[in-house]
This record gives sequence, structure tokens and C-alpha cells, in this order.
Amino acid sequence: MARYYLAVCRQCRRSGEKLMLKGNKCVSKCTFDKRPKPPGPQAGRPRRLSDRGTQLREKQKIRYTYGVLERQFRRFFAEAERLPGVTGDNFIVLLERRLDNVVYRLGLADSRAQARQLVRHGHLTINGRKLDIPSYVVRESDEIGFRETSTKTAYYQRVLEVIGTKVVPDWLSVDRKTLVCKVVSLPTRGDLDQKLDPQAAVEYYSR
Ligand code: SF4
Repeated sequence: MARYYLAVCRQCRRSGEKLMLKGNKCVSKCTFDKRPKPPGPQAGRPRRLSDRGTQLREKQKIRYTYGVLERQFRRFFAEAERLPGVTGDNFIVLLERRLDNVVYRLGLADSRAQARQLVRHGHLTINGRKLDIPSYVVRESDEIGFRETSTKTAYYQRVLEVIGTKVVPDWLSVDRKTLVCKVVSLPTRGDLDQKLDPQAAVEYYSR
């Protein structure tokens, strides 16, 4: 897993754009700003991608953005295929509903990686019960909060100080005094990042 996190800025360079995977560091000290070319020996040459290559790059961009390893990514895709409706839309909505992503969207962490750590270390509750599974898919009306013991930490205090500056999407709510959060409604495709192209992932996996 460590290997995965170390390579994080390479993921932006490989995708050809800033994916903002490191929170505040992406604003103040970004590797992509200094070295935007893709990593590796071909770095100097402009690359012309085949259709397959473009699908792969778009698919990887989604995977890097949500910080999910391939095996789990495929599992989410299989689940999206099982659901009624448009597979690409189902897929991205399912990824968006992951607990680590929701914690990030709520402004409780600066990046999805930090949110994942917060969840894994058991600081959060869902509907009053401790839950330390970052891939948990939230449901409508789920309530997310800090565990009683975690409200005594410096991290909790820091979040309290900055939460007023965070913009929270309409489908989520946060009480800025207690940091008790709620999934008001499930997100739809229209609520999500339009730069990501889940259809490319559908095409990539359909071959
Ligand atoms: Fe990407 Fe952030 Fe690294 Fe810049 S600092 S390359 S935006 S992860």
C-alpha cells in the first residue's frame, strides 16, 4: 500500500493533469507544476494514444482520483453493472458514495488519502457505531460523526477551526459546531465531477 501512496504525483503526470490527490500540498507545492510530462523514458516525446490507450488513461484517472486499487475498482464496476440504469453513471456514483470520499467531501480531511486514514484508524462512527472500512458505501440518511474519544484529539480541534471554510455538496450536510454529518440524499451523476468519464471505463472493461 505504501508503494501506491509514494507514486501519487506520478499518477497526475501519467494522467496529464492535476488530480489534486494530496490536499493542500497540491496548491502550495505541486510536482506537476514543475514536471508536467509523463514519467518514464518516453517523457520527452509527445504521445499519441490509441482508442484503447485513451480509455485506459481515462479509466485510470478515475481510479487515481478515488484512490482505489484495481481489484476493488473492478469490484465496484461489477456492482455497477448489476444495478439498473446506466453502468457508467452507477459506477461513478458508487465510488462517490464510498465512506473515504464522503469524509473528504464533508471537509473532515484535506484529501481522500487522509480521509481513508481517518476511517481506518477508527475515529469515525456511522449511525453511532464505529466503522473503519473506507470502502463502505453510504446510504441515504446515514449519520457520520467522530467517536467520543476522538473528539478530544488535536485533529478534531483543527477540523472544527477550518470547517467553516469548507464547501459541502448539497447531498451532504455538516453541523459545523459538532461535526455531526448526514447523507441528505444520494448523489446523482449531475452532482459529480464532469471531467471524469466513466463511460471510458465501461468501454475499457467491455473488451
Ligand atoms: Fe498531483 Fe497534488 Fe502531486 Fe500536484 S501535488 S502532482 S496535484 S498529487
